[in-house]
Amino acid sequence: MPARPVDVAALVAAARSGSPRAVARLISLVEDRHPALREVMAALAPHTGQAFVIGLTGAPGVGKSTTTTMLVAAYRARGQRVGILAVDPSSPFSGGALLGDRIRMQDHVLDPEVYIRSMASRGHLGGLSWTTPQALRVLDAAGCEVIIVETVGVGQSEVQVAGLADTTVVLLAPGMGDGVQAAKAGILEIADLFVVNKADRDGAAATVRDLRHMISLGDRTAPGLWRPPVVTSVASRGEGIDEVMEGLDKHREWLQSSGTLQQRRLARAADEIESIAVASLRARIGSLHEHAGLNRLATDVVAGRTDPYAAAEEVVAALT
Ligand code: GDP
Repeated sequence: MPARPVDVAALVAAARSGSPRAVARLISLVEDRHPALREVMAALAPHTGQAFVIGLTGAPGVGKSTTTTMLVAAYRARGQRVGILAVDPSSPFSGGALLGDRIRMQDHVLDPEVYIRSMASRGHLGGLSWTTPQALRVLDAAGCEVIIVETVGVGQSEVQVAGLADTTVVLLAPGMGDGVQAAKAGILEIADLFVVNKADRDGAAATVRDLRHMISLGDRTAPGLWRPPVVTSVASRGEGIDEVMEGLDKHREWLQSSGTLQQRRLARAADEIESIAVASLRARIGSLHEHAGLNRLATDVVAGRTDPYAAAEEVVAALT
C-alpha cells in the first residue's frame, strides 16, 4: 500500500507551535518507518538538543506510572513542558489505545504542555534502539524541556533505556527480592538514581540497605565518579517526590559539570547512526536476496564451491 503523502514542513511547524496532533502524527511516522521519515528528521534536527531525557525503569507494578505522574506534576509546577514516552518492549501494540491502561495519567491528559505517548518496540528492527531516539527527537523539537521514557524492566530493555537517557532512574519495591534481581540484571551499572518505592510497605529499609551495600562494593565509588543515591518514596501519596527531584537535579548538574552529558549524547548519536546504517545495509542485502545473488552464493556454500567468508565478502563488495 503506498504511504499517504505528508506535508513535512507544515507538520513540523505545527508540532513546534504545540499541536499535540502533529506530534502524535510525527511519532506515528517514526513507528511506521514512513518514507518521509528522513525528511522529517532533517526538518527536526535544527530544533533538537534542548530536552533533558530521564529513563525510568523497573519491574511491572513497582510504581513507574504513579511516579511518572508525580514527576510530571513537579516539572509542570516549574513551568516546564514535559513529554512522556511509555515503551513496552514486550508488546506489539502501540498508539493511543493502550494509554488508558499503561499510564494512569488522568491528571495530565488535558494539559496541553504534556505530551503522552505509548510505543511498542517489539517487532521493530533493533527494538528500542531504532524507534525511541527518533520519537525523542520529535518531542525534543516540539519544545519538551523534560522527557520521561518509561520502560518495563524486562531483560535487555532497562540496559537499552540507559543508553537513551541522560539520567536513568531504577525503581524498586521492597520485598520482591529486588536487590538481588537488580544485581543480576546489571542494573547497578546503569542506575544514576535508585528509588525504593512503596516505602509504606515492610522491608523498605532492608532494600535500601542492600542496595547501598551493593553500591559500596561496586566500581562507582572512585572520586569524581557519580555514586547513585538511594531514595525512598510512596508515590501513591506523593511522598519522596521532592527527594527524587533533588536526585535528578543533582545528577543533571554533575552530568554538565563533568562533561558526561556531552559524552553520553555523543555515544547515543553514534549508536543511532550505526543502527540506521545497519538497517539500511540489511535492506540492501535483502534486495540482493531478491535478485538471487544471495541464493546463488548460498548454493555455492552448500555445494562447497566457496566458503561463507568469501561469499560474505562478495556481498559486501556488491554493496559498495
Ligand atoms: P507500574 O506498573 O510500575 O507502572 O506501577 P503502577 O504505577 O501502575 O503502580 C502499581 C500499583 O501500585 C498501583 O495500584 C499503585 O496505586 C500502587 N502504588 C504505587 N506507588 C505505591 C506506593 O508507594 N505504595 C503503595 N502501597 N502502593 C503504590
